[in-house]
Amino acid sequence: MIHIKNLQKQFGDIHVLRGITCDIQEKEVISIIGPSGSGKSTFLRCINALEDITSGEIVVNGFKVHDPKTNINHLRESVGMVFQRFNLFPHMTVLQNLILAPMDVKKMAKTDAIAKAESLLVKVGLIDKIDAYPSQLSGGQQQRVAIARALMMEPTVMLFDEPTSALDPELVGEVLAVMKSLAQEGMTMIVVTHEMGFAREMSSRVIFIDQGIIQEQGSPEQIFKYPQNERTKLFLSKVL
Ligand code: ADP
Ligand code: MG
Repeated sequence: MIHIKNLQKQFGDIHVLRGITCDIQEKEVISIIGPSGSGKSTFLRCINALEDITSGEIVVNGFKVHDPKTNINHLRESVGMVFQRFNLFPHMTVLQNLILAPMDVKKMAKTDAIAKAESLLVKVGLIDKIDAYPSQLSGGQQQRVAIARALMMEPTVMLFDEPTSALDPELVGEVLAVMKSLAQEGMTMIVVTHEMGFAREMSSRVIFIDQGIIQEQGSPEQIFKYPQNERTKLFLSKVL
């Protein structure tokens, strides 16, 4: 589903991604771990064409991401993204936040969009907040709305960039629970996370990125129990 070959990304003199190669299959749940500043967010942003790349190749769902002929809007419709900050539109209710893009971009009929929004809000446990404004919600509730909003577009893959790191500790669990249920339904997911519990329990594969390259990857058991790379060991000794 996702094919990445020798991805390089520089910001001026800073060489952030230094040759990332990986393939991700449908229904995989990938956790990306690694130190701050190692290029994890940049990597996700390249997959979604939020950054242009210096060299290499990314193909998502058959879209060559950095080919000028690719319709980036179509690509982005098939890739949902959830950020650390919730990014809801503050002047819109939960319902309005959810139905905006599907009606605007996908030309979904309003009644269909509302029905879909309602069913997704049931799924994330927030149907009672349908007419609330973001400022009336806790961070965890806002993040669950953000996930529902991304799902409105019926993406085939979801990217999460530290979705729980801006949350108070007691709100992390409710967001992880929504992500777990998505994973169990077979959603293809790439999750940059500091939640080692989630990485260990939910991912089919853990990728450790440091200094802009994949230093090591494997099953949660391989990475957490039997890390081979010295950098992986050092990182895990700090976070576990
Ligand atoms: P991570 O998500 O692993 O913490 P990032 O991908 O955010 O790392 O950043 C990797 C490096 O790239 C950092 O040194 C950061 O300062 C740099 N960087 C990220 N975005 C930009 C940008 N738009 N311009 C310049 N440097 C950037
Ligand atoms: Mg980051």
